[in-house]
Amino acid sequence: MRPIQMVDTKTQYLNIKGAVDAAIGEVLDSAAYINGKWVTEFAKELGAYQGDVHTIPCANGTDALQIALMALGLAPGDEVITPSFTYIATTEVVALLRLKPVFVEVDPDTFCMHPEALRKAITPKTKVIVPVHLYGHSAPMEEILQIAQEHNLRVVEDNAQAIGCSYTFSDGSTQKTGTLGDVGTTSFYPSKNLGAYGDGGAIFTRDADLAAQMKMIANHGQQKRYYHERVGCNSRLDSVQAAILRVKLQHLDAYNQARQKVAAYYNGAFANHPNIQTPVVAPYSTHVYHQYTLIINNADRDALSKHLADHQVPSMIYYPVPGHRQPMFTGMDIACGDLTVTDWLTERVISLPVHTEMEEEQLEWITRHVLNFFD
Ligand SMILES: *Cc1c(COP(=O)(O)O)cnc(C)c1O
Repeated sequence: MRPIQMVDTKTQYLNIKGAVDAAIGEVLDSAAYINGKWVTEFAKELGAYQGDVHTIPCANGTDALQIALMALGLAPGDEVITPSFTYIATTEVVALLRLKPVFVEVDPDTFCMHPEALRKAITPKTKVIVPVHLYGHSAPMEEILQIAQEHNLRVVEDNAQAIGCSYTFSDGSTQKTGTLGDVGTTSFYPSKNLGAYGDGGAIFTRDADLAAQMKMIANHGQQKRYYHERVGCNSRLDSVQAAILRVKLQHLDAYNQARQKVAAYYNGAFANHPNIQTPVVAPYSTHVYHQYTLIINNADRDALSKHLADHQVPSMIYYPVPGHRQPMFTGMDIACGDLTVTDWLTERVISLPVHTEMEEEQLEWITRHVLNFFD
């Protein structure tokens, strides 16, 4: 049995090595390391995959969020509503731009923004809602978009963990997450579902004007070289990463299906266990299992983690400290709704290894050692 890892990017690479090495070789031969044709081609292909949306590649998923917020014409102190139960990047950029993070509660089943909590957090200063499709499952977007419309708010979806996930509206139509709000963002960090071999990110929108603004912001605020219309930043996806991502995009659906197979195995093994709550998939969302995250009830989650480590099974806590408790926000102007569920989850969640190259033997080993912890 191969050693068990949270993600196994090496084995995944070896399985597509020929195509990846050829793609990298092409870039090296061309010497167009920045702004090579691979970047435009990749943006086109990913935009088509997402359902014909404008796609702006950038340097990473954090920049994608920052650029999206910069494009919305916000003023310092404007309020941005976001879950506290997310990776720090989501909320960090809000504070970085001198906007006010307003942390709201998540639904304990889906781990995503709770629409009722969102409604309660809206004030006259609210401008943007940033739902996060955490672990690979969509936030309840139809309700969120409805609330946004009622209050004339913008929606920026943090889709870093859910590329490939589909949302089904009540009329039966479906759309990819990251294309439902005004703007969607994603990350190509190597361990993400569509991972590069370095950093990368992208921004999606259906709005041509916003697309032009964001493209300009990512490029030093210029449309014409050396004519800078607004303050922007330097955020590029490089040609090597774009060439790699073009190869990997062709495998994205198969990769997500491989993750779903792992989740199905785990779900079967843990079904009806009194201490284990397996991930819930809401009727409106598919799940692409960026993480496979359990809630451990009436047992010591940290002792389980240690027990697993003692048996060569890695596990992770995503995330051990919720945003609203991070020292970085101390003394800053933030607001919090009731975050009881967020704090509750922080103490109970545990993520098991899930990736595209897992073997049945490994799954059997992992589930056996999870289950025997409770014996
Ligand atoms: C990974 C991630 C990001 C940031 O992406 P980077 O490419 O690492 O900057 C943002 N939000 C969430 C939810 C993420 O998981």
